[in-house]
Amino acid sequence: MPPTDLTWDLSPLYADTDDPRWETELTEARDQARQFRRDFRGRIASERLSADLLVAAIGNFQALQKRGLRPYLYAQLLFSVDSSQARHRALLARVRELWTAISEDTLFFELELLRIDQERFLSLLKDPEVAAYGHWLQQLRGHAPYILSEEVEQALKRKDLTGREAFVQLFEELTSSFRYRFQFPGEESEREATGEELLALLHHPDREARERALAVFLERHAEHGLTLTACFNNILLDHAKEVDLRRYPDIMTPTHLSSETEPAMVERMMEVTEANYGLAREYFEVKRRLLGLEQLKNTDLYAPLGESREFSFEAAQELVLAAFAGFSPQLAETAAAFFSERRVDVAPRPGKTGGAFCMGMLPGTAPYLLLNYTGNLRDVATLAHELGHGVHVALSQGQNLFQYQAPLPMAETASVFGEMLLTRHLLDREPDRRVKIELLCARLEDVIATTFRQNMLTRFELAVHRRRAEGLLAAEDYSELWWEENRKLFGEAVEMIPAYRWGWSYISHFIHARFYCYSYVFGELLTLALYQKYREEGNSFVPKYLELLAAGGSRPPKELLRPLGIDLADPDFWQKGYDFVRELLEELKGLVGENK
Ligand SMILES: [Zn+2]
Repeated sequence: MPPTDLTWDLSPLYADTDDPRWETELTEARDQARQFRRDFRGRIASERLSADLLVAAIGNFQALQKRGLRPYLYAQLLFSVDSSQARHRALLARVRELWTAISEDTLFFELELLRIDQERFLSLLKDPEVAAYGHWLQQLRGHAPYILSEEVEQALKRKDLTGREAFVQLFEELTSSFRYRFQFPGEESEREATGEELLALLHHPDREARERALAVFLERHAEHGLTLTACFNNILLDHAKEVDLRRYPDIMTPTHLSSETEPAMVERMMEVTEANYGLAREYFEVKRRLLGLEQLKNTDLYAPLGESREFSFEAAQELVLAAFAGFSPQLAETAAAFFSERRVDVAPRPGKTGGAFCMGMLPGTAPYLLLNYTGNLRDVATLAHELGHGVHVALSQGQNLFQYQAPLPMAETASVFGEMLLTRHLLDREPDRRVKIELLCARLEDVIATTFRQNMLTRFELAVHRRRAEGLLAAEDYSELWWEENRKLFGEAVEMIPAYRWGWSYISHFIHARFYCYSYVFGELLTLALYQKYREEGNSFVPKYLELLAAGGSRPPKELLRPLGIDLADPDFWQKGYDFVRELLEELKGLVGENK
């Protein structure tokens, strides 16, 4: 078949959607969860807990999760390639229902793990079989000082449905109901459009259309300012109450606990990022010249630089595999298996999920990639990105279920590294100067979006949380703080269009998770540092990198990185990432200079 017709072969999971094994495995997982509760409830937090009993409980817990996850992931895969089929929707609904029951039966286990006395826990950890799950257990127990009694936890969970979660739901339902009237460039008249279609226009060559699209999009948000502001205000207040109730020392503590980051390190990273905002402004100046504009607006930041080259999927596949092979043949072989075993779904189709992802699956079950490949350079970079994720999970298959996925701030390490390998591979071979400029701009725009912009978002989020402690915020207060943080980044280099005052109101990270955005900064800078290590050390870096990927989430970030000579506590560490961005920028300026 031609490569763009490549679709998933899901037969290693189940023969087809009518395979009776699917239902059998799901019911078995349900029964195992009930049995697990009967066997272990009340025995984990007990003084008589032995290492053997704990290992047995973890073993059973893992086995039932794996049994239930296979049908779950299968249903998700089917749904994501074609949600229009009733059969796919039914499978997903069925699996979700059973999983709620499984989670209710097993909830006691994690709560009891938190209640094991610390001294006893440390002595249990000396047992090598317990130690094999040590990182997972310690991470879980990090939350222990802030967990309230079982009755209070249950009450909070129930009240959340009508509290925080109700506002999240309201935000989602309201913003996804927005439809716009818009005349697209090249079309005769106005038509109905979704928000995604409007935001996609930010990459359109027509300047006026870019600005109009963002303005129309944000003006609709302004019309619903009362509701959106209420959602934000209540979610901020909810967080403040939670911090109070659980006695977290700081509003960012829960995020640090789940991301395994330390407050001083993150603050340092953010300060260094701010000290380098000038790099972004220098880039914007280059972009302004390339676009031939007198003043760059924030709707010009992602404007294309001219006719984009098209890549067949076959060409994209060859390029990415060659880029990976130049680094490590083993990396390339692991990536090539995605194509030969048909674990990539390539083309966009009606009913298929948008965007791209790598479904990590389980230890012992190979991962799958979903793409919506249309043939531009960004799609080639996306392939390198998702294959990066793909090889990461494929290599960490030796880890247990709980330590299989990379720690949160390292989740994007292998994917961004894959993109770096591709960019370098293309730059070194590309004869056409204009294509080289396009490549470097694409990479720099990515870096700016994941470091400087995410840093600005985190600062804004911190500012509104602090302001909320003083009282209710009006929509204008949000807009004012938003404008201020953006101004620090853009300076005089970028003019913000008036509707951008509402730019804060559609960012769902603020609604769904607290302070998540700094993880992106961490991930990008870390990957740039790893790439620099590779340049310095050459081939001797390769086995260490592959070991890092194979280690999955078996240790905390700083321990995973130590063998690679990376010290996150070193105050100069973050600056090294920006020194590398400086190099890319100088390379771009060199190419653009030849223009004159
Ligand atoms: Zn990713």
